[in-house]
Amino acid sequence: THFGFQSVPEEEKEQKVHEVFSNVAKTYDLMNDVMSGGLHRVWKDVFMDRFSPAPGTKLLDVAGGTGDIAQRFLKYVRSPTHIDLDSDLSADIELPRDITAQVYMDPAEDTTDWSSSSSSDEEERRKNSSSRYIQRPDQNGSHVTVSDINQDMLDVGREKLLQLGYNAGISWFQGNAESLPFSDGEFDAYTIAFGIRNCTHVQQVINEAYRVLKPGGRFMCLEFSEVPNPLLRSVYDSYSFQVIPVMGQVIASDWKSYQYLVESIRRFPNQKDFANMIKAAGFRMVRYENLTFGVVAIHSGFKI
Ligand code: SAM
Repeated sequence: THFGFQSVPEEEKEQKVHEVFSNVAKTYDLMNDVMSGGLHRVWKDVFMDRFSPAPGTKLLDVAGGTGDIAQRFLKYVRSPTHIDLDSDLSADIELPRDITAQVYMDPAEDTTDWSSSSSSDEEERRKNSSSRYIQRPDQNGSHVTVSDINQDMLDVGREKLLQLGYNAGISWFQGNAESLPFSDGEFDAYTIAFGIRNCTHVQQVINEAYRVLKPGGRFMCLEFSEVPNPLLRSVYDSYSFQVIPVMGQVIASDWKSYQYLVESIRRFPNQKDFANMIKAAGFRMVRYENLTFGVVAIHSGFKI
């Protein structure tokens, strides 16, 4: 085929994906807005609304990249009414810093940067316990661990969330979704947004999600999916194959990375097949919901 990444052998995929996200890290948020016309914010808001996490939830957000899900999670658990689906789409990142800090900063928090502790501290913590990754819950005990294979994406995210005043209830870890550096049953919930299609072994990722969740824990995935209506699908196909790589070239001088992103969407299993993979990992009450004609789907399942 004329699309360059389609023939990439499995063993090279991880390396390619890593290059793509290192290339796009700095322009990632901007490109998301441009290419989806801001819709990705709505999808993520709806995702958080469907998740409806209770205060005190210990969340693992895998392939968390620049922290959009973590940001919405912390906002939601602090004040569920903050997620206003009809509000100005940019409201969540346009808040002036001082206001954000006033609202979200726990006065008891210090400003120590816990996630860049010295290597001997880190070793000490590794030796100590499996709960080494659960640090500094926010004032109501909620916590999100953002994990991503790409440090460049995490760096952009950490900086962004600090700017927005989120310095408690969150930690950042570099790691592969296919073999997570966490113990069995550590988390109440697991989210993965626009990340699982980039992984080489998707079933392995879901199995790992099952392993790190507590009994009763919830798996939630937001991912591009299949548009069932043939007419809408052909419009969508033209847009994604013809427009997105051009935008990638114009805005980020990077045709190939954006071509890869489009191809990865087409290769990912459709709603039903993906639901079956979630069931195969052991999850129960597996459901999905289409957003925007199936351009995106939310899948959910419970470990019970
Ligand atoms: N969740 C974020 C969001 O919704 O904006 C980021 C999504 S971004 C499209 C996909 C992310 O998946 C990238 O940050 C990439 O580094 C990460 N990723 C790719 N393969 C991974 C793997 N095997 N394990 C963990 N993260 C991975």
